[in-house]
Amino acid sequence: MQTIDLLRQLSDTFGVSGFEDDVRELVRSLVTPFVDEVKTDALGNLFAIRRCSNPEAKTLMLDAHMDEIGFIVKWVEEDGFLRFAPLGGWDPRIVPGHRVEIQTRSGRIQTGVIGTAPPHILSDEARKAPLPLEQMFIDIGAPSLEDAQAMGIRIGDPLTIHYPFMALTDDCVTGKAFDDRAGCAVLIETAERLAQQNLDVTVVYAFVFGEEVGLRGARTAAFQIEPDLAIAVEGTIGADMPGVPDHSQPVRLGFGPAISVADRSIIITRKVLHAMEAIADEAGIAYQYKLPTYGGTDAGAIHLVRGGVLAGIVSVPCRYIHSPISTLRLSDFELTSRYVTELVKHLPGAVL
Ligand SMILES: [Zn+2]
Repeated sequence: MQTIDLLRQLSDTFGVSGFEDDVRELVRSLVTPFVDEVKTDALGNLFAIRRCSNPEAKTLMLDAHMDEIGFIVKWVEEDGFLRFAPLGGWDPRIVPGHRVEIQTRSGRIQTGVIGTAPPHILSDEARKAPLPLEQMFIDIGAPSLEDAQAMGIRIGDPLTIHYPFMALTDDCVTGKAFDDRAGCAVLIETAERLAQQNLDVTVVYAFVFGEEVGLRGARTAAFQIEPDLAIAVEGTIGADMPGVPDHSQPVRLGFGPAISVADRSIIITRKVLHAMEAIADEAGIAYQYKLPTYGGTDAGAIHLVRGGVLAGIVSVPCRYIHSPISTLRLSDFELTSRYVTELVKHLPGAVL
């Protein structure tokens, strides 16, 4: 499949933290042709396993999280409006004035809008202050609680702001969930590229749940996989934009894959970092560093499982993550995808 179609399908699929079912089924169908076995666990992680014929072989875990930030319905008002709570790290300033998709118990998608009081009736003070999430509401067109219930809406239904995937230019695309469907796409392309090649490690492609609410799936996944080495693949914080000084831009678009040195969840072991740099240099892949110490990643949970796991992080630069309109460059994605393939081939031999 063309990269752009892969990203489109993955980004457009509904997959709020804890409700990753649709993404999991899509990933399962995409990755199955390239591996020996696909399985899931109790909480919804998906493992696609490419076995090495040598039973003594080490195990490499490649991680990408399936979930995207979203919300959950927490109350239905008598007059049919919905109240909602965040799942993951939203910036309340960007939430009002958007359409949302709510997934009902039956799986049906109900569209709604996050309404706000018109500026005409606000005091000068209220117009300047950002609205807290607790004061926002969703209008699904239902005139009453009974009507909302008849439409299938219940407390606990997940929702997210939905913007369909679009190409802005030949190289730049926008979508709602590149954090971390970009990582999922890298894993799928890597699995495809390596499907016909001999490897001297067993590779477990782990598509995990619940990263945005505390690295939950990565922790339980790593416990089961017992990897000798792990690489988390992320869509991360591109901040090359007006008003942000160079030293505050964690990564920039157009400069290739971002290698993390440290974030708030992990400090990359020197041996792993040096090998990652050398492999990129050897392959002639331009890379950048993700500046320390912004954000946390699944690698933070994975490296602390059992007796400790060597781990690295590679990211696709994405602007506007944790908003419904993130952007990335296909050229950065392509380099990241190729680089992760090189890491699978060479990193285990270099550090284990
Ligand atoms: Zn992420």
